[in-house]
Amino acid sequence: MPDSIMPAARVAQQTEHFDVLIVGAGISGVGAAYHLTKQCPGTSFVALEAQDTFGGTWITHRYPGIRSDSDLYTFGYRFKPWTGAPIASAAEILRYMGEVIDDNGLAPHIRYRHTLSSASWSSRDNRWTLEGARTDTGEPVRFTAKFLWMCQGYYRHSEGYTPEWPGMPEFKGRIVHPQNWPEDLDYAGKNVVVIGSGATAATLIPAIAADCAHVTMLQRSPTWYRTGRNAIELADELRELQVDETWIHEIVRRKILHDQAVFTQRSFTEPDKVKRELLAGVRGYLGSDYEIDPHFTPSYRPWRQRIAFIPDGDLLQAIRSGKASVVTDEIERITAAGILLKSGKLLDADIIVTATGFHLNVLGDIEFAIDGKPLVFADTVTYRGMMFTGIPNMAWVFGYFRASWTLRADLVADFVCRLLNHMKAIGARKVTPVLRPEDKDMPILPWIDPENFNPGYLMRGMHLLPKRGDKPEWQHTQDYWTEKDEFAAIDLDDRAFYYE
Ligand SMILES: Cc1cc2nc3c(=O)[nH]c(=O)nc-3n(C[C@H](O)[C@H](O)[C@H](O)COP(=O)(O)OP(=O)(O)OC[C@H]3O[C@@H](n4cnc5c(N)ncnc54)[C@H](O)[C@@H]3O)c2cc1C
Repeated sequence: MPDSIMPAARVAQQTEHFDVLIVGAGISGVGAAYHLTKQCPGTSFVALEAQDTFGGTWITHRYPGIRSDSDLYTFGYRFKPWTGAPIASAAEILRYMGEVIDDNGLAPHIRYRHTLSSASWSSRDNRWTLEGARTDTGEPVRFTAKFLWMCQGYYRHSEGYTPEWPGMPEFKGRIVHPQNWPEDLDYAGKNVVVIGSGATAATLIPAIAADCAHVTMLQRSPTWYRTGRNAIELADELRELQVDETWIHEIVRRKILHDQAVFTQRSFTEPDKVKRELLAGVRGYLGSDYEIDPHFTPSYRPWRQRIAFIPDGDLLQAIRSGKASVVTDEIERITAAGILLKSGKLLDADIIVTATGFHLNVLGDIEFAIDGKPLVFADTVTYRGMMFTGIPNMAWVFGYFRASWTLRADLVADFVCRLLNHMKAIGARKVTPVLRPEDKDMPILPWIDPENFNPGYLMRGMHLLPKRGDKPEWQHTQDYWTEKDEFAAIDLDDRAFYYE
């Protein structure tokens, strides 16, 4: 075909260059932008975000009742006091993030509706080239950057994970995933079956139960729930004493972190006692006549999967009221009228909500290449869950499972800023994590030990994730309480960092 009649390939007309390029404007990306302005003044940077606005998780999820299950004292940033009730709605979190953007002049650094699809590193130029497209116009975009800060989260935002059950096309009602909650979904007076019992189901059910005819929570296996008031007495007391909010933020963070450390430790050392306490909390709302087994008695030790916090026992109150109920069973098939269970029971449904989790998404579905060679991320070993062997000038933010994500986003940000300043000071243009001679015989293991933590989305996607070693340097330890000291003490001249 002569060139003149070839369809014009859509290529970006211009390339913009920055010192640092941040992917994503969720809690991590906005935090990264803040820390860069404070800790690396003079650094040029841009944050590129596929969605129409900031917020990430808190803008993607729009199902009724969407809220945090961590307290906002620790899910909020270290640097901006949280002044509300600890468990916050998505709207409150977005307002808080908006204030961070406004108060620190971050808006000009963030570009929305930019989806990145490829990232390639050139050792000749010592820079990344990122390509993608604008979601509104389809216009291709190209950027180059010296350093890439991946704040893309851990799951695919465009769609949630729904298993394939036989008979799905026969269902006469609607099947919806909470991640793509239809604005027009009318559940008033309807029979709704929510499949799953994690934090999403536990949030959604009390929010819709009063309006529905009935909501059934269908679970294959139960989840550990922790109940408590949506209030922190210490914070309320300090406020009554007119203590400055900055102090309250810091004191309450320390108190929560201390209590969480004790609780996490106890779930390993005295799991039976912790189980009894959690069950007593549930029983307190459901009453002694409720059959707590099997619906609320998971077989696994608390904290092997995330424990869902039930503020003011709202899910349990909905069950107690009779507007919601729990069925522990497995799905045989979907029928025209509902769900046939393995036990032979049929659950009538007008709407099926699949609160069945996420698609793990490593590196934001961006195709990576290093010097022309496609990157196989699973072949790398992680440096403290932040950087990766053989990948130059790149860090990513992956938070904690048992503590608030943002605690780690702040720690990673401190590290990245320190690294950028160090590179500037020594005149390095490239830093690549490398296994040191003393790491030569280190066992190389999967990203996470399933005995320690094993939610479905991680188990489904483990083959995509980088590997870990058996030393703290080569692991994402999931332990804020040691990382906060260890990260600050990282020796940037350690042989794990190869500078050029
Ligand atoms: C419903 C729900 C509730 C949660 N509650 C809590 C909680 O209470 N406490 C807690 O600690 N954690 C919670 N989490 C985990 C939560 O995802 C993190 O805490 C946190 O919000 C993650 O922030 P992030 O900025 O790292 O990633 P995200 O919030 O996932 O944001 C990533 C952003 O990057 C953008 N992006 C991704 N790929 C690309 C690309 N290729 N190009 C351009 N942009 C891209 C996405 O559009 C998105 O906006 C929850 C998760 C969910 C789903």
